[in-house]
Amino acid sequence: MTVDAQQHVLPDTPQAYGEHARTWLADNLTDELRLDRALGTPAPLADLIAFEAAQHRAGLTGITWPTEYGGHGRSLLEHLAANREIGRAPMPEAVNSIGKELAGPIIMAVGDERQKSEWLPAILTMDDIWCQGFSEPGSGSDLASLRTRAERTADGWRVNGQKIWTSGASKSRRCLLLAHTGSPEDRHKGLLLLAVPMQTPGIEVRDIQSIDGERSFAEVFFSDVLVDDADVLGAPDEGWAAATRVLTIERATNRMYRAWRFESEIDHLVAACRTDPRALARLQEHARPLAQLRVEAELLKAHVEQLVEVLHGGEEIGPRGSFPKLYWSEAHQRFAQLAWDVVSVLPPGAGQPLQDLRARMQRVYLASRAETIYAGTTEIQLDIIAKQILKLKRRA
Ligand SMILES: Cc1cc2nc3c(=O)[nH]c(=O)nc-3n(C[C@H](O)[C@H](O)[C@H](O)COP(=O)(O)OP(=O)(O)OC[C@H]3O[C@@H](n4cnc5c(N)ncnc54)[C@H](O)[C@@H]3O)c2cc1C
Repeated sequence: MTVDAQQHVLPDTPQAYGEHARTWLADNLTDELRLDRALGTPAPLADLIAFEAAQHRAGLTGITWPTEYGGHGRSLLEHLAANREIGRAPMPEAVNSIGKELAGPIIMAVGDERQKSEWLPAILTMDDIWCQGFSEPGSGSDLASLRTRAERTADGWRVNGQKIWTSGASKSRRCLLLAHTGSPEDRHKGLLLLAVPMQTPGIEVRDIQSIDGERSFAEVFFSDVLVDDADVLGAPDEGWAAATRVLTIERATNRMYRAWRFESEIDHLVAACRTDPRALARLQEHARPLAQLRVEAELLKAHVEQLVEVLHGGEEIGPRGSFPKLYWSEAHQRFAQLAWDVVSVLPPGAGQPLQDLRARMQRVYLASRAETIYAGTTEIQLDIIAKQILKLKRRA
């Protein structure tokens, strides 16, 4: 055991780290937070935030972040060990995933010392929740065409424009905002990254309801919003290039727990159906595609482990970061459809295990519809692989 800069006592080896994560989750994941219980409503936001802050104190988030910025200073091997357990546990998705997966790595790559020391610890302690203001109506896959404008003022920038699909906007303290300093025709030239405080006058958030009934994303309008120079991330032109490089690596290592979550959802489906012969008979009809999906979950786990080895060895993975995102989203979406086909109509008088399963698979099914869209659509991932790995040209 060693003690990190924040006085956390944490295990020394990846294996012990994984065991520690497993024990902590077994002790701290309450029924209210578990996704495999049919409690009906999601846990209150305050409870989710408290749970995420507790995870950090226990060494389960910020694992690879430097200790001087509030992290635990460990390697990707400990990150992988903990994330296997995070995937196996039926726990809620992170409230501050944008902060930890996107804003944090970008701040580390292009932020100045003050930004790093003030903003990074607050992400991990959950004092600052971040959202990502990249997509716009008409600019999703083709981000460089975005129209939000940042104009120079005496001591900062004046921002005007509209963002859409901004996850978590109404609960966020800061927005990682992408704006053009020139015209949309300049494409990647002149793209500026800003860390805009969401309380700044001129920002209006309008929630959007999604098919699961949640109001998890929003339209965000910026009208003459004044942003200080102190809230600019990287220089205009440089910030975007550094950010995209970081994001390629992060695409592979963020959410690596999803491979293990996928496997545990398959296990849950089979175990709950076994409690009722009528449900088992229905599942039996899908035995072959389910077996195929089980293989795909196994391949995904092995692939994630291999990418971690490559990165841990100091190599870059470049466009290979698209492989796990594409493979997981396509396979998981097929699984969600299969599971919903099995449990959407339960046998009369179905017991609690099947009701819990149905509630979980309904959420999994609805959420899966978006998995092939966010963080780069399937077509965009295929485009990256065709162009950057196979070196093929676009058809004329
Ligand atoms: C649940 C969810 C959460 C999100 N959260 C955020 C967020 O927090 N912040 C944020 O900024 N954005 C967010 N997004 C937006 C997301 O990044 C975009 O939806 C995505 O990039 C696709 O952009 P679009 O919706 O404009 O579709 P478009 O880019 O218009 O694409 C429409 C279709 O055309 C295809 N297509 C587009 N270009 C090509 C091409 N060159 N070749 C082949 N096919 C192509 C696409 O694959 C897609 O099928 C979120 C989206 C979802 C669903």
